[in-house]
Amino acid sequence: MTRPNPTVFDGHNDTLLRIVMDRRKGREIDFLAGVEGYHIDLPKAQAGGLAGGLFAMFSPNPDSLSSALGGKPAMGNPISQEVAEDFTYAMMDAGDEIVAQSGGAVRHCTSAAEIRTAMQEGALAMVYHIEGAEVIAPDLGNLDALYTRGLRSVGPVWSRDNVFAHGVPFSFPASPDHGPGLTAQGEDLVRACNAKGLMLDLSHLNEKGFWDIARLSDKPLVASHSNVHALSPTPRNLTDRQLDAIAESGGLVGLNFAVGFLREDGNHGRTDTPIAQMIAHLDYLLEKLGEAGVGIGSDFDGASMPREIGDARGLPLLVAAMAEAGYGEDLIARITHGNWIDLLERTWVA
Ligand SMILES: [Zn+2]
Repeated sequence: MTRPNPTVFDGHNDTLLRIVMDRRKGREIDFLAGVEGYHIDLPKAQAGGLAGGLFAMFSPNPDSLSSALGGKPAMGNPISQEVAEDFTYAMMDAGDEIVAQSGGAVRHCTSAAEIRTAMQEGALAMVYHIEGAEVIAPDLGNLDALYTRGLRSVGPVWSRDNVFAHGVPFSFPASPDHGPGLTAQGEDLVRACNAKGLMLDLSHLNEKGFWDIARLSDKPLVASHSNVHALSPTPRNLTDRQLDAIAESGGLVGLNFAVGFLREDGNHGRTDTPIAQMIAHLDYLLEKLGEAGVGIGSDFDGASMPREIGDARGLPLLVAAMAEAGYGEDLIARITHGNWIDLLERTWVA
């Protein structure tokens, strides 16, 4: 199989959640054959050069699903571990099933070597990540089981509070300095993830929690899908001080394609946001983090994309814009996949 070159390893998508939610509504979803309206499915990944990524498992608040107002009001309300287990294992099962039925075209990867092999052989590399750690028991009693099941990345918190940490709200414009830092259980979770070689993802964390992890963690700091606060002042984006700390740790930031996190006005509805705005964030991230600190974190299937990109088939347009902006072949290879795989390799060490 040939792909557009270079290939993309993406730090964040919400495709597994979309599959589980749609199936629970009675819709038949065939990821391998292609799904109308999805940003990622196997045919779109192959067409756009998407070689793999972190497939997030986010558990929605059930109250938000039944809301007549479209789900928003209860999204930020805390959820129980039982609810998170229900969604998380359904998403892992969905991922495992795709892998099992794909005949090698989709592979569940738990090491950098497996990702590199999958990429060389033209397969889609799927890495399991949880976005919000509600599924993890407060005493961390099931962390080993999740690791054994193939989990390799943990975002302690989504934009709502849990037993470990406090997330940033979706207010705009606002600072990420909102609420207290990690709880004692959150500090234990950081140490346990370090000890097991599980990646910690700082996207969605508030600023005090960010600094707690910066202080506690002995791994590079990673924000899988966040942009530049100076260019788009949402609390989901990173301040200059945070970017400096990530750079100092040898860490990485994945460019989020969500128009609301790209735009100066934070408007999530403006899909006419130009690709040039993505390049503006990349330029800024490169300036702060250096050539080894920048990757992709699309938020495909979880956010409104710039219309020109549309879905995974639009990735070559972003790559072309990087080339037009003067990024050389080596830098483009780093941003599109090399930096992510190197970072995972450095992080997934017990
Ligand atoms: Zn997210």
